Amino acid sequence: MPGRAAEIEAESRSWILTCSSCGHQRSYWEIGGVRFKAASAGKKVRVGCPACGRKGMHAVEWRPSER
Ligand SMILES: [Zn+2]
Repeated sequence: MPGRAAEIEAESRSWILTCSSCGHQRSYWEIGGVRFKAASAGKKVRVGCPACGRKGMHAVEWRPSER
C-alpha cells in the first residue's frame, strides 16, 4: 500500500506551472512539493523561474496524465 507521501507527490506532479516570461514548464512538485487545491486551476502564482531567473507569474494547470 503506497504511503501518503507518495500520494501527495503524485498529485503535486500533476500540477504544471508555466512561466509567463519564457514559457518554461515544470511541475509544482519541483518548487516545493506542496499540493494545490483543485480551486487553484486557472489561477496564477508568483514564483521564481529556474530557466529565465525571473520571479514572475506562472499559470497553474492541472494535468493528471503527465508523469
Ligand atoms: Zn521563465
